[in-house]
Amino acid sequence: MTQPQEVTAERHEFRAEVRQLLDILARSLYTEREIFLRELISNASDALNRVQFEMLTNKDVLDPEAELAIRIAVDKENRTVTVADTGIGMTREELIENLGTIAHSGARAFLEKLQEGQASPEEIIGQFGVGFYSVFMVAEEVTVTTRSYRPEAQAWSWTSRGDGTYTIAPADKADRGTVVTVKLKEDAAEFADEWRLEQIVRRHSNYISFPIYIGDRAVNQRTALWRQSPNEVSEEQYVEFYRQLTLDTERPLLWVHVVTDAPVNIRSILYVPSRREWGLLPGLRTDYGVRLYSRKVLIQERNSDLLPNYFRFVEGVVDSEDLPLNVSREAVQRDPMLRQIRRALTNRLVKALKALADEEPEKYATFWREFGGFIKEGVATDPTSHEALKDLLRFHSSKAEEGELVSLAAYVARMKPEQKAIYYVVGEDLASVQHSPHLDPFRSQDIEVLYLVEPVDPFVVLALHEYQGYHFRNVEDADLEALKVETPQDEGADEAFQALLERVKTVLGDRVADVRASNHLTTSPCRLVSPEGGPERDLARVRRLLEQDFEVPKRILELNPRHPLVRNLAALQATNPDDPLLPLAVEQLFENALLVEGLLPNPAAMTPRVQALIEAAVAARVGKAASGEAP
Ligand code: ADP
Ligand code: MG
Repeated sequence: MTQPQEVTAERHEFRAEVRQLLDILARSLYTEREIFLRELISNASDALNRVQFEMLTNKDVLDPEAELAIRIAVDKENRTVTVADTGIGMTREELIENLGTIAHSGARAFLEKLQEGQASPEEIIGQFGVGFYSVFMVAEEVTVTTRSYRPEAQAWSWTSRGDGTYTIAPADKADRGTVVTVKLKEDAAEFADEWRLEQIVRRHSNYISFPIYIGDRAVNQRTALWRQSPNEVSEEQYVEFYRQLTLDTERPLLWVHVVTDAPVNIRSILYVPSRREWGLLPGLRTDYGVRLYSRKVLIQERNSDLLPNYFRFVEGVVDSEDLPLNVSREAVQRDPMLRQIRRALTNRLVKALKALADEEPEKYATFWREFGGFIKEGVATDPTSHEALKDLLRFHSSKAEEGELVSLAAYVARMKPEQKAIYYVVGEDLASVQHSPHLDPFRSQDIEVLYLVEPVDPFVVLALHEYQGYHFRNVEDADLEALKVETPQDEGADEAFQALLERVKTVLGDRVADVRASNHLTTSPCRLVSPEGGPERDLARVRRLLEQDFEVPKRILELNPRHPLVRNLAALQATNPDDPLLPLAVEQLFENALLVEGLLPNPAAMTPRVQALIEAAVAARVGKAASGEAP
């Protein structure tokens, strides 16, 4: 004997975040309320995918023969819309967990995003795992009646008016799946209309792979776009499919459609979005990857093992008859078939990106701005990626126009005939490397230098080691014989200069490894070089960022004997070694050099000294002027 439903109906409260979210959705005016249908259909489709997947291995489900489909019905008179599916269904516990009490981290993230005020709720709600609640934009009351695929499960119904509470009660439902009944608000009566709903399905849910019936007509396209031949698919279809797949409102930057049967079966469409982060809180997104199908059955919502890690920004669908039900990293390593799929997809993406660089440099610049970091990471961490990725790399350079970037191929193409290496300078940012004293000899001989200003950049050249047979060389390297500057010097000047070197050593003490003359500087008075070259030096900056107590190894200070400032200091040392200006100037030169190297921990601390130097300079001027005036 069953009890009357009223007796067993239980009232539950929503969590605070969900209540807040419902409040916002119920009270405001939205222009895109129609997306509630997209969210209900997307949930129905997820539920169908899950039961389809379950049935691959488990025959013991309720209604194994039921057609996998979504049915939409309208009752104009009563102002209701129902969306029914034959999907996986929910048990009582699942109903409560999925639609009710359990804390939704997505709800909080969604609310935070709304507070930023950039996006409207209906645009972004689907991306936070709270899409179901969008139904309360149009609903006075919602009832979800559901029966799980488990043969012994009972049917339950969940009802809420979008206020603070919902009720759960046993229900009558003989077959598997879920029916969502929406009692529309008065001002949402427009949605109780088959024609209107059909329009919405076409616009937002056309590529759902299960039939969506309105009445007895399936109204969605249903053919899996990726299984069609590329020349049958229009550009707009690719874009529309991307939008429906990702909920990104922008057009994708690029896509590739891979159709092969040998050596492996692949049907795939891969997309590069136009932005690194779309619609989501930066950092919120942890679920990278592509959708995997095997013979049109969705086997994984997001898989990040079938593409190299550095392509984790890629969206899309991979369908292959050769995919097992579980595609893990280990499986890809073990299974030659999976490795082949991975290689094929990677090659096609790389090829498409190279073509983009050649044919649409501006678009490629956008790609590089948004995703270049991933490519660099790939080169720096994965030696097997070099062949594929080295020509995708771009760098700032001494010969590039403002904001322009150069490829390694372009660099090599304009190397000087006698040039033996690819030169780079490492620094904090563009402004400081442009003023680097290390560039003096390169500027005077018109040799191009790559600017490595991102922390990952030194790792890239160290990993790559060479390009087209040319090694990468840091401009600091002291043994650049060919770049030496020859300047004849008279004996007296040389003696004074030697005395200055000694004096500077005393002033700086053990803050430097040595003080010596430079053969390379032209327009700069001094520079710091590392006692030894190699990776240690290039990575010192990164280590300083990463390790709190990392001490940058001591540098050698090189003075330019040809520079007027240095010559004057030498003269001062020779004539008036006790002048207090002398050690002040030496300290300041040293700190300037640290600053351009990005090695000065606290630049503000130099202010009092700079002020003392300015005072001295101005005083000297005034003194001259005064003596000039006096007859
Ligand atoms: P998301 O779909 O992103 O998980 P939603 O708010 O749309 O977030 O749905 C919440 C959860 O409710 C789903 O994850 C699912 O577990 C459950 N659910 C919603 N609709 C259905 C349905 N038609 N069949 C089965 N489960 C459903
Ligand atoms: Mg959903």
